Amino acid sequence: MTLSEKDSQYLWHPYTQHKTSQTPIAITRGEGALLWDENNKEYIDAIASWWVNPFGHSNKMIADAIYKQLTTLEHVLFGGFTHEPAIQVAEKLMEILPKNQQKIFFSDNGSTAVEVAIKVALQYFFNKNEKRTTIIAFENAFHGDTFAAMAASGISFYTQAFQGMFIDVVRIPVPVKGQEEVSFKALKTVIESHNCAGFIFEPLVQGAAGMVMYEPEALATLIEICKENKVLTIADEVMTGFGKTGKTFAMDYVAEQPDMICLSKALTGGTIPMAITTFTQDVFDAFYDDDINKALFHGHTFTANPTGCAAALASIDLLQTAEMQNNIQRINASHLRFQKKIENHPKLITARTLGVIFAVEIKSDAEESYYGSMRTKLYNFFIEKGVVLRPVGNIVYILPPYIMTDEQLHKVYAAIEEAIEMV
Ligand SMILES: *Cc1c(COP(=O)(O)O)cnc(C)c1O
Repeated sequence: MTLSEKDSQYLWHPYTQHKTSQTPIAITRGEGALLWDENNKEYIDAIASWWVNPFGHSNKMIADAIYKQLTTLEHVLFGGFTHEPAIQVAEKLMEILPKNQQKIFFSDNGSTAVEVAIKVALQYFFNKNEKRTTIIAFENAFHGDTFAAMAASGISFYTQAFQGMFIDVVRIPVPVKGQEEVSFKALKTVIESHNCAGFIFEPLVQGAAGMVMYEPEALATLIEICKENKVLTIADEVMTGFGKTGKTFAMDYVAEQPDMICLSKALTGGTIPMAITTFTQDVFDAFYDDDINKALFHGHTFTANPTGCAAALASIDLLQTAEMQNNIQRINASHLRFQKKIENHPKLITARTLGVIFAVEIKSDAEESYYGSMRTKLYNFFIEKGVVLRPVGNIVYILPPYIMTDEQLHKVYAAIEEAIEMV
């Protein structure tokens, strides 16, 4: 039996209807931007394995750091104990995060980073005896699959089975070009008519919605409106963090800074699951009290796992090398040239680029659903060509590892151009 055949006996995959989907491809090896399956077929990983892997598969420097940590201190509980790797990650993040971020809280994945931020926003006001229980979020947002993260997410089929079981979330439109005023007005109306605790957003790019982009000035205005009304702001940088937008964080483009930031995905270079939520001193102070009940009673068994911390430190070191910064600029310039080449193609609605993120929207006669027929046709076409891309409905995006070579990038572009002709 092949690995693919054995898989279907026991395994349940994410976002998968097992009755209608094909058997998964068994990957046995990865190096740089490439993956190989059990039949030795080669694939270019053009989405950095769900946006986690900026420095390439099986990266030696991160692997060495992990091995060294595993043979020194693999794990210790973080309740009542601390360790150097966690302190070093905190010190490193203080250097690179927006200056108002002062405290960091570890968890395990993007959803838990968001869960922590939303719980903190709600308890912040509870601790101050203020009744504020509504969270504001964007339409078509994606913040993860745990309950509060799902409540904040707006992509309906991810959450439809659970409607009516969520915390209070009110949605506002994304301030895409031409819709800025509509979005500002909606935010003001929501704040006037609800007791709002926090506003959570994916800064500048909504990943799972299909790389929907909006301008930093619009986000600054939304944050200003929140600040005027003492609504806490949460930047979900789980996807955008660590260089994807061309700067270390998407918030580095924005004049106003948030009260909290959620990080995960590329944090450990795609090696060990880990997440961080960061806070201003003001947020932390609302929990700092003689009264034990005002503490944040949230934690995970593997909080601040030292091995994950070692991977994060190595990853941030890699990100800060001139070589990696040049790679990010090289890929951005390459995307912009490709965008110019194809943006007027009669079959395209739009093409857009920010940092290493590139997306095209393909015209279609029918309303294209997220996992609809066009998506399936495109996905299969790319896999056949040996390119890992996961289109969202009629949107095809690239989010390559920063080490992807020009030659590999051009193969990906060529596959996209062919796909546009095919559908
Ligand atoms: C992926 C993602 C999450 C959820 O992260 P998980 O690690 O999958 O739980 C949350 N927010 C954003 C913006 C994401 O892209």
